[in-house]
Amino acid sequence: MIYTDTRDKTVCTDFRTAVMSGMNQKTGGLYIPESFPHLEQSFLQRTSAPPFREIAFKMAQPYVAGEIPDDELAGIIEDAYPFSPKIVPLDAVTYALELFHGHTCAFKDFGARFMARVMSYFNKLENDALHILVATSGDTGSAVGSAFHGVQGLDVTILYPEGKVSELQEKQLSTFTGNVRALKVAGSFDDCQKLVKTAFTDSTLRKKLRLSSANSINIARLLPQSFYYMFASMCVRDRLKIDCKIEDAAIIVSVPSGNFGNLTSGLIAREMGAPITGFIAATNSNRTVPDWIATGVYNARLSVETYANAMDVGAPSNYERMSAMHSLDKIRRLFASYWLDNDGILDAIRTCHLRTGYIADPHGAIAWKAWDDMRRGAMETLLGGVQGDYTKPGLTPNVPDWAHCVTEKKSVGIVLETAHPAKFNSTVARAIGREPPMPSRLAEVLLLPDRAVPMENDYGTFKSWLLANLL
Ligand SMILES: *Cc1c(COP(=O)(O)O)cnc(C)c1O
Repeated sequence: MIYTDTRDKTVCTDFRTAVMSGMNQKTGGLYIPESFPHLEQSFLQRTSAPPFREIAFKMAQPYVAGEIPDDELAGIIEDAYPFSPKIVPLDAVTYALELFHGHTCAFKDFGARFMARVMSYFNKLENDALHILVATSGDTGSAVGSAFHGVQGLDVTILYPEGKVSELQEKQLSTFTGNVRALKVAGSFDDCQKLVKTAFTDSTLRKKLRLSSANSINIARLLPQSFYYMFASMCVRDRLKIDCKIEDAAIIVSVPSGNFGNLTSGLIAREMGAPITGFIAATNSNRTVPDWIATGVYNARLSVETYANAMDVGAPSNYERMSAMHSLDKIRRLFASYWLDNDGILDAIRTCHLRTGYIADPHGAIAWKAWDDMRRGAMETLLGGVQGDYTKPGLTPNVPDWAHCVTEKKSVGIVLETAHPAKFNSTVARAIGREPPMPSRLAEVLLLPDRAVPMENDYGTFKSWLLANLL
């Protein structure tokens, strides 16, 4: 597969380069495959959906062809995914796609674990260890740390701001042993980022240590997220006859979005033949993309803090990839969009629980409410010609091609549950009056000893630590 660049279509590189460099330093653009091969009909039309790992292998194959042999790829997938996504019916026309059954209870495990193993494979050809540096304000660090934990030839140093992450988050970051270490920096998240960035541009340091990042824009985190869209849409299509008795229902996937990596992966799955008719781009008050879809003007801004804080992104990087794949006109025909403010998020958790008995986390709750509002009248109102106001929470005034499938009740929704609700227990408790049950893998981490090393907010001290501990 040839990889090109969102900013320069003449760029032409391989998977290895795209993965190991993360982004194109020369153009500032993001790598993107030159094409998204459609899977053959004999695979897509199977009478019962193949298992998750089989789908993962089939979908990954064209993107690594010629660079990772089939038996190695099969090993990477087996090792990356000892867990699977789960589909939970919430009512006759709504399914939750639970993506939190991995090690850190968030969907980022799917991308990070695949990337870690691909990097390890490529690094086998080198003599030296590869050192991953990651600054985190909370969740990304634990997904990356956990993904690389025990992976050969690599180690990870996580920097997080001391006293600025929740207790559970801190435990998830600071209790690793072996090849993953955490530094608690006396400073802010921005200070952590600055230390990492300075290290990357320090040529004397880079002569001694091979450094890399594990950024969410890495193509090796994006591609594997497409696997669960294919899996879920094929499983739901299988179940339609039994569950809702609507023949050929349109499948609409509602995606809680921040940096829009997850939704871009959905677009990739659709290009490859996943039976998905359309998407709902659901956000919190960081509504850059819903505004773009409503007005046609893309206006990046500073992020604002919300209860769904993993989506607090004002300038989503994957806007570039979505625009490289489809025109604005096509996006408007494919996407409905929707956003909620903080009051709306609490109401969404509460309403979902009341109507379905399901406890959603603040991110998944936005996606659920978007689908639920839309099918209960919001789309009908839009089709009736009522001028919506995009500056108010709710469904954005944009009518996708598939709107009539919703109003004529010929559609079903898949709602992405991106995190376990226990990770956001105080917000959930505020909404429904009690905390969700804690899964054992989260409860256990609370009992482990904190191993984080205190670090001054000073580059010289940080550099000496790296040289003393990583060499
Ligand atoms: C990162 C994250 C998101 C947003 O995903 P993007 O790919 O950045 O759009 C949503 N929910 C949770 C729980 C997350 O951790």
